[in-house]
Amino acid sequence: MQRVDHETGLLTRDSFLEHLSALHQSVQQGNLSGFHIFAIDLEPLFNARSTLSPADIRWLLTSLSQRLADYFPETAVIGRTLAEITAVIPEHDPSRLGRFAEDLIHRLNEPYTTPDGRVFDLILKAYILEYPGSLGLDCDIADIARFHTSFIQIAKGEPSVQQIHVFTSQSKELIAQYYDIDQHLMNAVNKNEFFVVYQPRVNLVTGEMSGAEALLRWHSDDLGMVPPNVFIPRAESIGVIHQITPWVIKQVCRDMGKMKSSGPEFRVGINLSPSCISGGYVPDCLAQVTKAENIDPDRIELEITESQLVSRTDVVIAQLEHFRDVGSRTALDDFGTGYSTLATLTDIPLDIMKIDREFIRRLPGKERDVRFTKSINDMGKALGLTVIAEGIETAEQARCLVNDVGVHLGQGFYYGKPMPLDEFNRFEVPAH
Ligand code: C2E
Ligand code: MG
Ligand code: MG
Repeated sequence: MQRVDHETGLLTRDSFLEHLSALHQSVQQGNLSGFHIFAIDLEPLFNARSTLSPADIRWLLTSLSQRLADYFPETAVIGRTLAEITAVIPEHDPSRLGRFAEDLIHRLNEPYTTPDGRVFDLILKAYILEYPGSLGLDCDIADIARFHTSFIQIAKGEPSVQQIHVFTSQSKELIAQYYDIDQHLMNAVNKNEFFVVYQPRVNLVTGEMSGAEALLRWHSDDLGMVPPNVFIPRAESIGVIHQITPWVIKQVCRDMGKMKSSGPEFRVGINLSPSCISGGYVPDCLAQVTKAENIDPDRIELEITESQLVSRTDVVIAQLEHFRDVGSRTALDDFGTGYSTLATLTDIPLDIMKIDREFIRRLPGKERDVRFTKSINDMGKALGLTVIAEGIETAEQARCLVNDVGVHLGQGFYYGKPMPLDEFNRFEVPAH
């Protein structure tokens, strides 16, 4: 029996999956050459919840379902899955796919006018997968669903304005790699495969070390070294980051007890992922660990990135206030690469601003670049923040920062790369 979703008039998830399963079987038995699955992500609609009434949302959902039903051929099966509307078209001609998808998106994104004359704009995206295509005939139905879900998740994580995403053999490879990483990440904390390295932070005028940034490293027994920009997003995605972050905090505090450099200004920065902020457990963890390890919490700086301020600013502010209640400092990392509105900066309880290395890379360069970086520094100072330059690689950059930009603290390969604790303890800032 077909079950229908009462909001959209489309098939329910279970009913849709039964149809999909039957089509899959037909392909495997040679009765059908293949099919295409189209998922339309409903996130833009749900994101508008704070500004639209439930009745408006329902109306929009029904209208867009109607547009889909009108556009797809009769043979298509369309269902409402959790966060998407998904359609499967049997025997769809792959050579017509591009045109078909562009037309579809064009129609879906035309303004929606309610019966009482209000107009809504939605920017919807389509995620398309062909079976057998690059998946191969052997791929079972559970794997198809798994590939499609991961594909959507990965594509959504990319900063792209593209509205049509098509699953390719590269997507398949990437997802397979991610599965591999995910499997190994699950056990990495228990297997003791993580370690922390420290990059010196230097007073650019005196050449003295004024602190360090703690950076996580993963050496997997099976995969070897995996870079943080690969494993941290995966750890966030599968939730392991909530196991990793308390581990990092503990490890850093332990290491701080063994650090040789400990002048009055010496502080260590710890990076925090967005989900750790919304998780809300960091302040308690920090309070407990600093107490147990006998570390003054004021010697710890918690770094969040600018992009975290874009959404849920209220949650971030509340957490940063808790960090301060515990006695630690707060830093805005990679400043200049996110899209925080300048107005929010005045509301955020911050102590430090770290200028992203993208700006430092351009120095000394053109006068314009220097002036621009100087204005970032001036703004940070006007907000009462300590400004740190990231990614200093050359003597010229360091000189320009001190003389023309007015930044006096920095870190970068020019002074020292991130290194394990024992090396860090032997490290002396080279005389420049
Ligand atoms: P980040 O916090 O902005 O860290 C600075 C990154 O710049 C580090 O990359 C560092 O090795 C690199 N770097 C430092 N000086 C230079 C330089 O002169 N030139 C260049 N080209 N790069 C330089 P790394 O260690 O690969 O870390 C990448 C990112 O991973 C970090 O960016 C941070 O966002 C994240 N991360 C690292 N450890 C943790 C952690 O414990 N937790 C979380 N949530 N994220 C972490
Ligand atoms: Mg950082
Ligand atoms: Mg940074």
